[in-house]
Amino acid sequence: MDLKRHIIVEGLRSLLRSSTSKYPKVPYVPPDGYRGAAEYDSEKCVGCGACSQTCPPGAITFTDEEKKRNIELKYGFCSFCGRCEEICPWEAIHLTKNYELAVYNHEDARTGIDIEFFECVKCRKSFFPEPQMKVSLEKVKDALSKYHIKQEELANLISICPQCSFTVEEMPERRLFMRRLVE
Ligand code: SF4
Ligand code: SF4
Repeated sequence: MDLKRHIIVEGLRSLLRSSTSKYPKVPYVPPDGYRGAAEYDSEKCVGCGACSQTCPPGAITFTDEEKKRNIELKYGFCSFCGRCEEICPWEAIHLTKNYELAVYNHEDARTGIDIEFFECVKCRKSFFPEPQMKVSLEKVKDALSKYHIKQEELANLISICPQCSFTVEEMPERRLFMRRLVE
């Protein structure tokens, strides 16, 4: 087909079919794998903060408050790279197909999650994300059994905050525990 004919055919085709989408009248459905706004899964997030540490532009931050850890993602800083989704050990953050992120106030372009802290059994001070503690215990269960250590023994030790652990009363038990791991 010569160039002239090609141009005429394409011109006629464009009269019959639209070259642009009808968005926003007709919602646009992104293809699979589209990297839109990331969202947390509150059922799965343990509050470890790994997503925050690996986010290249620093869009994710976390703040430890008295009783909880607040994790926050600011879409204005997000480059939609998907690193947070890749790195999360618990599959608790996913890039969705949501691309409609326009807001009047940039402070509103955010998402986040609150994770409750565990309370020290001695001083009642909150010190560590509770869900992270639970999943960590579960993860080391098999390794502990090799040393004939029960999960509850480790649970008892880690339920005491660092300040209360390094005391004259607590240290001997901790030392004995560590010795069982190396003997
Ligand atoms: S989303 Fe994943 S990586 Fe981020 S805090 Fe939650 S569990 Fe950790
Ligand atoms: S998609 Fe990339 S830039 Fe956006 S929050 Fe996740 S890691 Fe950060």
